[in-house]
Amino acid sequence: MKGFLHSIESMGLVDGPGIRTIFFLQGCPLRCAFCHNPDTLKRVGGQEVTPQRILEIASRYRSYYGEEGGVTLSGGEPLLQGEFVYKTLELLKQEGYNTCVDTSGFGNPMYYSKIFPLVDTLILDVKAFDRESFKNLTTIDGFDSYLKFINDLECYGFRGQIWIRHVMVPGYTDNEQSMNSLIDIIKPISHRVERIEILPYHTSGVKKYHELGIPYRLEGVKPMDKHKAKEFEVMANKLFATTLQEERKAKERKRQEQYKKLKDREMASDKEKTEMISNLRKLPLLSDVAEEDLADVLKEVILTNIKAGDYIFKTGDPPEYMYLIYKGQMKIYYNTIDGEEQIFYIYTDGDFVGGLNLLEKTPYEYIGQALTDCQVVAIPKSIFDKYFYDSPIFLRSVLSKSFERIRQAEELIQRLSTSNASMKTAGLLLKLVKRIGVETDDGIRLELSMNREELGNYSGLRRETITRKLGEFKELGYIELVGNKVIIIKDIEALEGYVL
Ligand code: SF4
Repeated sequence: MKGFLHSIESMGLVDGPGIRTIFFLQGCPLRCAFCHNPDTLKRVGGQEVTPQRILEIASRYRSYYGEEGGVTLSGGEPLLQGEFVYKTLELLKQEGYNTCVDTSGFGNPMYYSKIFPLVDTLILDVKAFDRESFKNLTTIDGFDSYLKFINDLECYGFRGQIWIRHVMVPGYTDNEQSMNSLIDIIKPISHRVERIEILPYHTSGVKKYHELGIPYRLEGVKPMDKHKAKEFEVMANKLFATTLQEERKAKERKRQEQYKKLKDREMASDKEKTEMISNLRKLPLLSDVAEEDLADVLKEVILTNIKAGDYIFKTGDPPEYMYLIYKGQMKIYYNTIDGEEQIFYIYTDGDFVGGLNLLEKTPYEYIGQALTDCQVVAIPKSIFDKYFYDSPIFLRSVLSKSFERIRQAEELIQRLSTSNASMKTAGLLLKLVKRIGVETDDGIRLELSMNREELGNYSGLRRETITRKLGEFKELGYIELVGNKVIIIKDIEALEGYVL
């Protein structure tokens, strides 16, 4: 595995925390008007190096790094050499180095989910604040994909801190409106932003353009006044601090609303509570809680009655609670851009949701809505952190639930990717057999909490199609329909034949 290296700064002080060795990699798809390193833009060139070689060089300076310092991969655009960057970071991390990547967000997305979990600090360059000026400054119509990159950073597994950088060009972005837009752009990642830096545009790279015979697009633009740039930096940081305060307040309001909503639906009867508690003790999830801690846990958890159709959580809800279904059925879904509902999972007695959100501190991505009247235990974050976070049994339960969900998601993709309505219907029935099927003398009985429309949303079919297919399966003797809410599977092998 080889990468293309432009140059090295052995002990840099500004590109990431502490003292760092900075490796400037070749290649960049952008053509920023103010780029002072036009010689790094070609993808191929410079010196060929292996990840091992980067490690060797870094090890020479390691004793200077101290607690904070380490290695920075910069460019050009380092993420363009995705595989090389991944392998290098992997090696560095194995050896315990602190890592930093300086990017403009235009690399090879194929490697993002491998790279980002290995990055401690991300220096994120913000070039411009709207589509038009982004295109003018970089020559690329890439503002939307840049915003998407920012939005997706955590989905790629990034859990580090972010330094925001903006090169301020006089006459372009040296105004208050730009600073406001900057704060808006970084909102999705604001909880990870550690600092905002405004770098004054300078003209020291112009000579290189003339030497390389490349036209310089900012010819005649004066360097940015350093003091003015500093004033804008202070302004941006103040605006950012205000945004963070507002976000914190909004979060607290939401948390209290959520708490009130759950408390309003809390069960009144002590008898109900006592019965539920003794039953819940049998679940693996709660079996690890010591007897002496149980009273504390029970004091804090909220035992709620949720009516069919009510929401338990919605997309974007902060990870404040995880939910354990004691009785009833809940659907987990999201609304597609066409306004259709796509159901992912149906959860029932003993299932839980939100454990991973609390572990990863990520908001809920989907919607949880009761299909039937449900009894749900809301476990608050404080109890989760105290009693569950380190429990091996709990972590095993979350892990096995995650595997189950991956399997279900794979089955769903398989179901949706086939255009054959018989296969989709048979696949859906088999899935329901696994989730809610009850063996009876007449066959496997499915008591449905979903109407035909929801069955369609679960299987990727229109309501009319699923109704027609169920009718056909009935004619063939595979199933029996008892009203709208009960299906009895008469010939499971025949259904399996469609899917296998
Ligand atoms: S992203 Fe950086 S390296 Fe690429 S053109 Fe812009 S300033 Fe130059």
